[in-house]
Amino acid sequence: MARLAATPAGTLPAIFDRAREAQASWSTRPLTDRARILRNLRDAVYDARDEVVDLVSRESGKPRVEAIFAELLLVLDFADFLARRAPSWLRGERVPHHNLAFKAKSAWIEYHPHGVVAVISPWNYPFAIPMSQIIAAVVAGNAVVLKPSELTPATGALLAELFRKAGFPDNLVQVIQGGGELGAALIEAAPDKVFFTGSVPTGKRVAEACARKLIPSVLELGGKDAMIVLADADLDVASSAAVWGSFTNCGQACLSVERIYVEQSVAERFTNLCAEKTKKLRVGPASDVDAEVGPMIRVRQLEKVEEQLRDAVERGARILVGGKRRDDLGPNFLEPAVVTGVDHSMRLMREETFGPVLTIRAVASANEAMEMANDSPFALSASVWTRDSRRGREIASQLRAGSVMINDLISYYGICEAPHGASGWGRTHSRFGLLEMVQVKYVDIDRLPGIPKSWWFGYSGDLAGSAWRLVEAMFAPRWSRRLKAMMVRGGARSMIFRRHRI
Ligand code: NAD
Repeated sequence: MARLAATPAGTLPAIFDRAREAQASWSTRPLTDRARILRNLRDAVYDARDEVVDLVSRESGKPRVEAIFAELLLVLDFADFLARRAPSWLRGERVPHHNLAFKAKSAWIEYHPHGVVAVISPWNYPFAIPMSQIIAAVVAGNAVVLKPSELTPATGALLAELFRKAGFPDNLVQVIQGGGELGAALIEAAPDKVFFTGSVPTGKRVAEACARKLIPSVLELGGKDAMIVLADADLDVASSAAVWGSFTNCGQACLSVERIYVEQSVAERFTNLCAEKTKKLRVGPASDVDAEVGPMIRVRQLEKVEEQLRDAVERGARILVGGKRRDDLGPNFLEPAVVTGVDHSMRLMREETFGPVLTIRAVASANEAMEMANDSPFALSASVWTRDSRRGREIASQLRAGSVMINDLISYYGICEAPHGASGWGRTHSRFGLLEMVQVKYVDIDRLPGIPKSWWFGYSGDLAGSAWRLVEAMFAPRWSRRLKAMMVRGGARSMIFRRHRI
């Protein structure tokens, strides 16, 4: 598809020097100015929409519809959202003091960029994931060095080009091309913060490397998302959601539905609906505009899914539909599979599958479903399906997950206000994701600059007595006692205007 030069690790110091220089002047530009250029980026992405969608779907194999919804639209909306919101969110805020002793101060919080941040991305959403992180990074005043996945380098290169076209300063967003070793070298080059999205094993290596250099990090890792279907759910809608949630992006999404727990009384009907709908899916390459399920990213990923299916069948699971290779279409195609009779002894239910597999487990009650959903080391997101919204809310609050959708799934990733994360640490998207891009600085100004502070040197028994009264004046349970501690001779009041020996 494309030939791109790999970036030699030896060039990283020069890349960082250029990034630091660009960041120094970028961070002094007014927020409104940065937001304006972000709007230019939105427009540049819109102008390049055909190129973006074509490239992303050709390089990753995802259907064109998914490239439009989950990559292009998401990025346009997020750029627009932060261009509107970031100026007020990053402007800083007043801090009123509740403590009597500090009432004479006026204080505020300032938000400062970290400096040069590293973004290390996966291949499954090669445009939306790095873009949404870089957009937040630059509007907050940072420079970025992005290492896209070695499996989707052309999308990474296009991304740099879009920032250039939008009028961002040269070297503010630089893209380096290479595999895991280059990612490791990027961390060794000591960025001011690392934003990593990828698998749990790599995430652990990244966390260790960052810890060795005390570099703060945000880790967005894998998922094993549960879907809970209660007996009162609209089964037709829920089964369509289950099929889409399990097979969108060929199941290669961190938010894919990987485990379905359905109440026993409706399990058979729900399973039949899922099986029928799965059989109707059109499997094919991205070049076929009617294809709904594309190829897997590489054969190694497909083999991993086959191993999990084999292990599940050996332990008693049943594959109702699919699970076979489609060599007629190419080496990376696997028919979407529906599997029942699964339990938590199976790798299919414990490890991230990251492939086109829909697993259904019948449960006796909603409580059992919740216990099973929470029985996983992953806690990225989950969904609950019911017509009873109160019950849905109760279950949602008891699920251990970074986000829970009731009667929908996955789409919160495209909701700008919704924070995303929880399988590693930190958050991306929303105001919380923007705040990951800044250092929080507290500043205050004393409105009584001519008065030395009572707690400074010049300690004495009298001062200890007054300090004691101050504690009483602030926290004694009875108001009369508080008042007395304040007014009595040598009480809390006298601390404020005490004569200083030093
Ligand atoms: P991966 O962990 O193999 O690679 C991710 C990135 O890390 C790539 O750019 C890779 O080159 C780089 N890398 C590899 N070794 C490195 C090292 N030692 N130091 C620094 N960087 C290194 O993941 P992948 O296969 O590209 O993506 C799939 C995984 O990503 C799945 O587990 C999926 O759940 C997860 N994911 C998570 C989210 C989320 O938001 N939580 C989103 C998408 C994907």
